[in-house]
Amino acid sequence: MNNLSCRSLLLFLLGFSLSPLQTATAQEPVEITMVRATPTLTGTDVRIRGTRTITTFQRLERTKEGFILRMPQALLGIAALDSTVTKSPLSCKVERIRDILVLRFMCSPSDSVIVARDGQRDLVCSIRTTNTTSEKSEKKTDDKWLLDVIVIDAGHGGQDVGAEGVNGTYEKDVTLSIAKRLRDFIREDFPSTKVVMTRDADVFIELYKRTQIANEAGGKLFVSIHCNSMPLKPHPAHGCETYILRPGRNDDAARVAALENASVKFEKSTSRYQGMTADQIIIATMAQRSFVRLSETFASTIQREVTAETPLTNRGVSQAGFYVLVGASMPNVLVETGFLSNVADAEYLASTKGQKSLARSLANAIKLYASAYQRSMSH
Ligand SMILES: [Zn+2]
Repeated sequence: MNNLSCRSLLLFLLGFSLSPLQTATAQEPVEITMVRATPTLTGTDVRIRGTRTITTFQRLERTKEGFILRMPQALLGIAALDSTVTKSPLSCKVERIRDILVLRFMCSPSDSVIVARDGQRDLVCSIRTTNTTSEKSEKKTDDKWLLDVIVIDAGHGGQDVGAEGVNGTYEKDVTLSIAKRLRDFIREDFPSTKVVMTRDADVFIELYKRTQIANEAGGKLFVSIHCNSMPLKPHPAHGCETYILRPGRNDDAARVAALENASVKFEKSTSRYQGMTADQIIIATMAQRSFVRLSETFASTIQREVTAETPLTNRGVSQAGFYVLVGASMPNVLVETGFLSNVADAEYLASTKGQKSLARSLANAIKLYASAYQRSMSH
């Protein structure tokens, strides 16, 4: 073990016993605990996280091979390099020269890179892939559309009406209408893509069967469409939010998951969901770890597109334990389009214009996600 990893290990082991005063002194190096690359719609973000604020970093140096980020008074923690930066397309070499941590990233010399702080402990290097490269990769993948099967899940159905709107609209009808329109938009935009609907009529489909259908069809993306609701109606809460499967973080996320998971009461046997504890949600999340970042990318793209295309407000991306997402073996999200318990949202959700615009924005999000996905696969 070399000096650097010895020291990292020591710091790692001591991590929790050091007092905040000791860890915050200027002389003490900041430990980098994570270096991770995530595909974005325009290229790649490399996120670098410290145990505390990375107080100093030098201006990025461009080289023929990529770029160099130097951080004085920093060291790299054990297992900080995520697999997304240890293998192609973006590899990272690490050196420590005196007390300076040097991270060398390989990328195309024509890509532009900027570095910025994000929150208390993170630095983000945003790599923007130049047009020539993306044009080339789009051309290369033209013949084979990688996102060849998209699964659309219209929430609820049949005896499970879902939420009931202040205007009497049923969630099951809104979700089916948006789903069908989305299917038609995808067929128009990508004629060679197979669209699988978990239901295309007013029927009840058990939650576990929805992901089973998606998995059996070889789905590359799963989108479950729903409407939110508050117990007391009318209610001022409004707007669109998109969820990914992970243990819930707050009461509101738990409320939404409980509302959607209540569909199991219409199923013949609820035993398969018994004991679906927080631990099991964590296990299910881990099973999805290889595509959780793609789910996040897709979720935030949906939020951006819905906000751009509709008057619905952006409530952001959240996470909770939704049974309907548990078994999916592909990137997956659940969209709470708007609140049926809110007068304005309900009116919009019940309208043809609203349903059409929501479908259009979901189709746009799929298109944007698809090009980012193609790019990340074609390197
Ligand atoms: Zn629902």
